[in-house]
Amino acid sequence: MEYYSTNGKFGSVSLRQAVVKGLAPDGGLFMPDYIEKFDHKFFEGIGGMSFPEISFEVARKFFGGDIDSGHLKKIVYDTLDFDCPVVHISDNIYSLELFHGPTMAFKDVGARFMARLLEYFVRNDSKRLNVLVATSGDTGSAVANGFLGVEGIHVYVLYPEGRVSKIQESQFTTLGRNITALEINGSFDDCQRLVKSAFSDENLNSKISLTSANSINVARFLPQSFYYFNAYARLCSDVWKSSPDTGRIIFSVPSGNFGNLTAGLFAAQMGLPVKHFIAANNENDVVCDYLKTGNYKPRASVRTIANAMDVGDPSNFARILDLYGNSWSAISRDISGYRYPDDMIRRTIGEVFSKYGYLTDPHGACACKALYDYYDEHKELRNKMEIAGVFLETAHPAKFPDTVESVVGKGKIPLPERLKTFMSGKRQVTELGADYNGFRDYLYESVK
Ligand SMILES: *Cc1c(COP(=O)(O)O)cnc(C)c1O
Repeated sequence: MEYYSTNGKFGSVSLRQAVVKGLAPDGGLFMPDYIEKFDHKFFEGIGGMSFPEISFEVARKFFGGDIDSGHLKKIVYDTLDFDCPVVHISDNIYSLELFHGPTMAFKDVGARFMARLLEYFVRNDSKRLNVLVATSGDTGSAVANGFLGVEGIHVYVLYPEGRVSKIQESQFTTLGRNITALEINGSFDDCQRLVKSAFSDENLNSKISLTSANSINVARFLPQSFYYFNAYARLCSDVWKSSPDTGRIIFSVPSGNFGNLTAGLFAAQMGLPVKHFIAANNENDVVCDYLKTGNYKPRASVRTIANAMDVGDPSNFARILDLYGNSWSAISRDISGYRYPDDMIRRTIGEVFSKYGYLTDPHGACACKALYDYYDEHKELRNKMEIAGVFLETAHPAKFPDTVESVVGKGKIPLPERLKTFMSGKRQVTELGADYNGFRDYLYESVK
């Protein structure tokens, strides 16, 4: 399949080019040329299929023309060595838990898939490929763990000294092997500047192969459609116990850059029976405003307790516009927006825990609250058991101990084994200054 740019100025490229480049040369985002629908039979049988089985079928629709079936199957099965279960909360409301991967956040799915796809593409290259990633926390851990042990690729994670939480830091500084953590004596902006300078340094790029693992990469964003299908399959097999025509889902997605929600829109275009999408925002609500008014006005982000959603100009919004041919009326028919300030997010974490015994993280809490509010406005849907409300729980609550424990009480969230293991690992970091020449010389030395 070919990929075109949302800016339209740039001719189509192959999957390999789209994945290695990340961003189109005209600054647009890559989109697959067409979206193939599943037939009715697929949905009739989906309840009997496992998560990796379903995901392989979805992956084939996008990547089947570019990768042989055996390799693609291996990539999908290696990526999904953990589950994304659907957990009942109350009435017809469910949580789709996306935090069972290595770093306990949903970005694991996309990062692991992308790592394995890149590995496939560079398998015959003689030169090692080097991934540079600047992080203020969670992206670094998902990318580092996604690429851990992947042949032919080395990852450099640049992070600002003293500004990343201990849990986050431990997830990329204790790995070793093909992951190098670079502690930069500067800010996150310095880290980003170093990475950008390296990508635009022609001399450097002529000697060593560099790429980014940016979240707008098609190989990170498209695989996120897998778990929407799995949610539907598990409702078919465990809840509705019936044929697909009767069941439909309302998905509520905590959104920052809107990659996760856009992957859901792709799933719906492939025929997944979705009734409606809800975009749940914190105070960074430019898309909510757009859905209400039709005006898109990006602005600087503000800090909130759901910090992975602190985005003032969501990059994947361009993909949503493209998918709907820029039609505000079509977009606002399919997606509703809700926004919550920090105090409402805290209150929701407390209420959901006390009423239903379920602990949400600050991001999942936004999505959960939005789903309940949507039902309040659409009471006719509330008691229809063939309509399920599913909110995406994008991170484990233990990753946000300060917020969550301030609401539900100290000691209520024991640190999961997986996070404990990171915390007790041996810290291996290289300290560097914030000047570009030093960073460049370090790369030359290190790659040699
Ligand atoms: C990245 C992230 C989000 C936002 O996802 P987008 O695809 O950027 O909209 C939500 N929750 C958590 C925990 C995240 O890490």
